[in-house]
Amino acid sequence: MPQLDTADHYVNQRDGRYMDMALEQAREAQALGEVPIGAVLVSAEGMVLAAAGNRRETWQDPTAHAELMVLRLAAQRQESWRLLDTTLYVTLEPCVMCMGAIILARVPTLVFGAHDPRAGAVGSIYDFSTDERFNHRVEVRPGVRGAACSTLLSDFFASLRQRRQKRCRPSSPDQG
Ligand code: ZN
Repeated sequence: MPQLDTADHYVNQRDGRYMDMALEQAREAQALGEVPIGAVLVSAEGMVLAAAGNRRETWQDPTAHAELMVLRLAAQRQESWRLLDTTLYVTLEPCVMCMGAIILARVPTLVFGAHDPRAGAVGSIYDFSTDERFNHRVEVRPGVRGAACSTLLSDFFASLRQRRQKRCRPSSPDQG
């Protein structure tokens, strides 16, 4: 077990702060009818380079995941596809597409909230972060604000199921 020293404590506090920003992006996405997932890309100096939420429904774009949105935005702003010395914060464990993009963009550090047992590519169904066949390794800090991130998602899916059940329920005869 690594010892928790002052530097670790500082990192933990900072991780929590940026994950809160990613959660804010997730809530904004939810308000648009999106699955609530948010991401923030931060420079080594602690500057927020880009922040975005999932826009798959809004854009009807299968690639409009929060992670890809922040990578694209930050690369455009920096005029460089190499996002060296950055940390990506995302509320949900990235999928294979997003982990692929994180590796291609040379993002050195990934911090995520909830695990995604069905599609996660950072240990759940695959682990792209430690696969030595890639020429880039990603340092991962999982589970930051994990409970808040996963509650946001499970509440969203629970209310979605409720709405669907209401819609599908046949109307009673006395209601015509
Ligand atoms: Zn993804």
